Amino acid sequence: MHFVSTKTYNNTAMPDKFTFHSHNTFCDGKNTPEEMVIAAIEKGLTHFGFSSHAPVPFENTFAVKQEQLQTYLDECRRLKEKYKNKIKLAIGLEYDYITDLIEDINQRAAAANLDYFIGCVHLVKLKGDNRMWFIDGGKQETYDNELQTIFGGDIRKAVGAFFSQTNAMISKCRPNIIGHLDKIKMHNHNRFFSEDERWYEDLMMSTLELISKTGGIIIEVNCRGLYKHRCEDLFPSRKWLQRIAQMRIPITISTDCHNVSEIDSLFCETREAVKTLGFSEVMIYDEGWKPCRI
Ligand SMILES: [Zn+2]
Ligand SMILES: [Zn+2]
Repeated sequence: MHFVSTKTYNNTAMPDKFTFHSHNTFCDGKNTPEEMVIAAIEKGLTHFGFSSHAPVPFENTFAVKQEQLQTYLDECRRLKEKYKNKIKLAIGLEYDYITDLIEDINQRAAAANLDYFIGCVHLVKLKGDNRMWFIDGGKQETYDNELQTIFGGDIRKAVGAFFSQTNAMISKCRPNIIGHLDKIKMHNHNRFFSEDERWYEDLMMSTLELISKTGGIIIEVNCRGLYKHRCEDLFPSRKWLQRIAQMRIPITISTDCHNVSEIDSLFCETREAVKTLGFSEVMIYDEGWKPCRI
């Protein structure tokens, strides 16, 4: 496992295009890992990371099946070697951190001998309660219905549970990358809360302070919500990205692509946006995480 080193600034210019958050047919992606790699090369990416959804202990249609995990890792390794002269490949997984169910994603990542792992919260769960609030996916009704049934419609309680789950993941597991840090806003569309409300700002700022204090964690700037037209801003929103730049927390840019056509969707626009927001470097995986000048 490689951790972030921000001490050795190597003054390398940022490669044109890259993403360390991608999906394929081992999880809920639409193209095989090899199709994704070939498309990444054709689109001019210099670095590309595999990050299928890691296995979860319940029936589902999105994650790698436990019995397929080794095959996934073997296939990623085969491709890393096969295409090493054309593109730098990195092997990762996107882990769900779920209260009571999956709280050891750092140990799972170490056992899988990954180059890096992304930690995310897609399913919000209260301790001792078996139900889960699915905040991702294409359906706003799921978000709305489960907010009612699990949290009695109490948005502050629900959003608070999302952030405390995120904070537990940060403290216990220190993921290399935190994926879509404020996905909780995606289906909100300013209906239940505004990101300018004091209680929401306090939750977000405590999480950012925890990330900063913990160290060694990269926040991804993920443009999937924008190109899928599911939300109006990046993950995290520009408002928070400005704070993240001031706090000097390292970032990377991810498209979170699920098929070949999404590999570089809005990448260049996102790169310009982060520059404008005050960032001067981004983190790239090249046999270890390295800062590169934007
Ligand atoms: Zn995700
Ligand atoms: Zn993803």
